[in-house]
Amino acid sequence: MTTTTEAGVLAARFEETFGAAPDGVWQAPGRVNLIGEHTDYNEGFVLPFAIDKTARVALRLRDDSTVRLLSTFGGHGLVESGLAGLAPGSGSGWTRYPLGVAWALQEHGIEVPGFDLLLDSDVPSGAGLSSSHAIECAVISALNELTEARLGAEELVLATQRAENVFVGAPTGIMDQSASLRGAKGQAVFLDCRDQHVELVPFDAEAAGLVMLVIDTKVSHSHADGGYASRRASCELGAGLLGVTALRDVGVAALDDAAALLDPTTLRRVRHVVSENERVLQTVRTLANDGPAGIGALLDASHASMRDDFEISCPELDLAVDTSRANGAIGARMTGGGFGGSAIALTPVEHEQAVRDAVVRSFAEAGYTAPDIFTVTPAAGARRIA
Ligand code: ADP
Ligand code: MG
Repeated sequence: MTTTTEAGVLAARFEETFGAAPDGVWQAPGRVNLIGEHTDYNEGFVLPFAIDKTARVALRLRDDSTVRLLSTFGGHGLVESGLAGLAPGSGSGWTRYPLGVAWALQEHGIEVPGFDLLLDSDVPSGAGLSSSHAIECAVISALNELTEARLGAEELVLATQRAENVFVGAPTGIMDQSASLRGAKGQAVFLDCRDQHVELVPFDAEAAGLVMLVIDTKVSHSHADGGYASRRASCELGAGLLGVTALRDVGVAALDDAAALLDPTTLRRVRHVVSENERVLQTVRTLANDGPAGIGALLDASHASMRDDFEISCPELDLAVDTSRANGAIGARMTGGGFGGSAIALTPVEHEQAVRDAVVRSFAEAGYTAPDIFTVTPAAGARRIA
């Protein structure tokens, strides 16, 4: 279906449910992180891109302070809530994301009236493609326009971060919403997480005869869980012991000296972040000079660093990466926060089927749940579609 038709179907369903046409329909994409993992909260560099899988919201402002929320995928039914009593921790399931956005805008001093909202999404949930930020970015785009708050991209990024960190309680950085809000067709988003400076970097795999495969291992991750929090704590500890504001300020050349100051575990955590920042910069340079065909080794090195130094991979992700590489992918890595979720495999078109078949076979042989495998391309960021 085209975007216009999808928007029309959603608007019609909204009208059936809520008795009036929506004020508009907005969409925001999930994202794949090409490279730069766990660098965002270290004020470093990331290189994600918005994908061609999106969350869409039909939304209509109300005259009172009631919020009514419904999704096409069921779950929770029609949820009604009051804006006045919103506080961190309220709401459940997917409704936490629109409520969190409304709360964050209120905290920002914006008067948010009540609204009716119908959500649809084809971003796989919990697969490391940031389905949560896709919802938040679609909702904040709608409310920013309809309330005439006119916040710029950088303020929208910080508001959605507050929604996730404080309201939902997931300690995420600014990468996901930056990709969703600022992404563009055919481009990766090179983001400096220290000052939110963005440069769009052409990433046209297709023109290079490549496809970007996503392998959703179906192993569920949870950002709020202890592994993510403990990695953040290690990074803060490392930065403190090295006397820098953030690990962004440590260069690769300083790693030898760092060895004397850090315990072995903290050293490995620090080494991942410092080397990963350098790999992001190299990837940007390589894309400019050689195109997507040149970045395979950088993807592989990123995976090894996350597996061995940051220790956030899992057997399913390692199997997806190793099997993809052994069957023709030019580079592969886990993507997202880790402990499950998805891997990406940059693969020559002529090897796509072989990689798909081999990964499915290897998962079956290992007794793992069958993975979901699909291609993604860099797509437009959040926008109004009707
Ligand atoms: P990710 O953002 O990586 O997909 P999260 O755990 O941050 O993973 O967000 C997943 C949550 O978002 C789910 O637990 C659910 O509440 C909500 N969600 C997002 N998309 C959907 C969907 N299509 N169906 C049901 N819930 C969804
Ligand atoms: Mg999320």
